Amino acid sequence: FINKTAGWNLQHTYGKLPSGFFTYQQPIPVKEPKTVIFNEDLSKALGLDFSDFPPQEIALLFSGNKTPEGSQPLAQAYAGHQFGNFTMLGDGRAILIGEQKSPNGNLVDIQLKGSGRTPYSRGGDGRATLKSMLREYLISESMHHLGIPTTRSLAVVESGETVYRERSQAGAILTRIAQSHIRVGTFEYARQFLPLEAQKQLTDYTIERHYPFLKEEENPALALLMAVMEKQAALVVDWMRVGFIHGVMNTDNMSIAGETIDYGPCAFMNTYNLKTVFSSIDVNGRYAYGNQPYITHWNLSVLAGALLPQIHTDQKQAIELAQEALNAFPGMYEEKWLQMMRGKLGLMEFEASDKPIIEDLLALMQQFAADYTNTFVALQTGDFSGEAFFETSAFQEWFLHWVKQVTRNGRTLEAVQKSMSSYNPSFIPRNHRVEEALDNASLKNDYQLFKDIHQLLKTPYTPDPAQLHYQSPPPNGDSGYQTFCGT
Ligand code: AMP
Ligand code: MG
Ligand code: MG
Repeated sequence: FINKTAGWNLQHTYGKLPSGFFTYQQPIPVKEPKTVIFNEDLSKALGLDFSDFPPQEIALLFSGNKTPEGSQPLAQAYAGHQFGNFTMLGDGRAILIGEQKSPNGNLVDIQLKGSGRTPYSRGGDGRATLKSMLREYLISESMHHLGIPTTRSLAVVESGETVYRERSQAGAILTRIAQSHIRVGTFEYARQFLPLEAQKQLTDYTIERHYPFLKEEENPALALLMAVMEKQAALVVDWMRVGFIHGVMNTDNMSIAGETIDYGPCAFMNTYNLKTVFSSIDVNGRYAYGNQPYITHWNLSVLAGALLPQIHTDQKQAIELAQEALNAFPGMYEEKWLQMMRGKLGLMEFEASDKPIIEDLLALMQQFAADYTNTFVALQTGDFSGEAFFETSAFQEWFLHWVKQVTRNGRTLEAVQKSMSSYNPSFIPRNHRVEEALDNASLKNDYQLFKDIHQLLKTPYTPDPAQLHYQSPPPNGDSGYQTFCGT
C-alpha cells in the first residue's frame, strides 16, 4: 500500500472567525457512492491528482463518506432575503470540507452539496437529486467556459439513495469549488445575530480574502460595499450578455466575491423578452431577465444595510454615506452594459449615436420574438438564413443603419464582425437540450448527450457547422418550460 496524498493542502481560515459563523459538522455518509462525473482539468488546477486512486476511493471522498486528510468540515451560518423576506438560513445541505490552497496560491472552498442534514437544515432532508446536481455541474462549467465568474464543479457522485421530491429520485452529492461562500446573507446574519466586533471581523476577513487592496482603506465597510457593487455590476452585465436568467437572486445567493452561485432554477433565454421567467415559484417575475440589474441593486442595498453600523457610528451619517454609494449603481451598470452591447454589435468607436442602434435592435427583437443568441451570431457571421425576423423590412432597415455606423470610420464589415466574436457565443446551454441530457443521464443512466453538450460548451465562441442542431431554439418556443428550486 502506497500512502498516496493526492495533493490536499487544506486551510481553515473560515474556522478562525467567531464561532457564531459556523457549526462543525461531518457529512452524513451515503449508502453506495458512485462517481458519475469528475472534472480532471479543474482537479489539476487545484493541485490535486487522483490518477493513482481506485475509483471507489474517489467516490468515498466526494460523497463525504471519507474526508480528506486535514479537513475540518463545517456548515456555515447565514441569513438572507428570499423574495424580499428576511429569513435565517445556513448550509442546510452543504458542508465546507476546507479551503484548498492551489499551486498558484489561490485559496478556494471545497464544498460538498447534498451531504446530509446540518443544524441549519430546518425541515429539509439535507440531500439533493442527481438531476439537479448534474444540472449545476453542466451549467456552472458552461458559465466558466463562457468566461463568466462562477463557482465550479469538481465532481458528481451518486449516493445510491433515494431522494423524494414529488416523486422518488436518485440522490447525489456535488463538489462545489468557490472563491468563497461568503454571501450578502452572511453579512445580514452577522448584523442580525452577532456583536459589532464579529461583524467587523467578517468585513476584515472578506477584505483580506477577496479585496486585499482595500486593507488600508479608512472606511473598510464602505470601501467593501463599493467594491462588491463593481463586481456585481460586471457580473450581471455578463449574464445579460448571454441571456442567463439566474432565477433565484435571493441575497443568500449573491456571492461577495462576485461569482455566479446557486444553479437551482436558472435557465437561458431563447426568444428575446425582458419579461422572461422560468422559475415555477417566481410568479411575479421578480427575477425576470430584464429585472436582474434592478434586483442586484436591491440586494446591494441590503448589503449596505447590514454594513451600516460599521460604516459610521452615527446612523444618520452611515445612511447618507451608504445611500451616496448605492446611488452610483445605476450609472455604473449602464456604463458597463453599454460597453458590453457595443462589443456585441462591434460598435467600437464609442459614439453617442450607438445607443439608439442598440436599443432599436433590442426593441425589434422583442417585437418579432427573435432568438437572442442566434440574432447576434447571424450579425457576426453574416449568415441570415432560416429566421423570419431577418426577412422583415424593420430588421433590414435597422441592418443598413448598423452597417453604416460600424463602417463609418473606414473599418471593413469583416473586421467589425471579427471583433464581435468574443462577445457572442454560438452555443449556449439550450434549456430543452439540457433537460433531455439530464433526463437521459438521471433516468436512463445514458450520459452520451450530457457529455456531448458539455464538450461543445467548452468552446462556446467557436462556430461549428457540424453542431448547428445544438444551436436551435426549441421548436415550440419556451412556452411551458419551468425550472424548480431546491431539488
Ligand atoms: P436555495 O433556495 O438553494 O438558495 O436554498 C435556500 C436554503 O434552503 C439554504 O439554506 C439551503 O441550505 C436550504 N436547503 C435547500 N434544500 C435543502 C434540503 N434538501 N435540506 C436542507 N436544507 C435545504
Ligand atoms: Mg442557495
Ligand atoms: Mg439552491
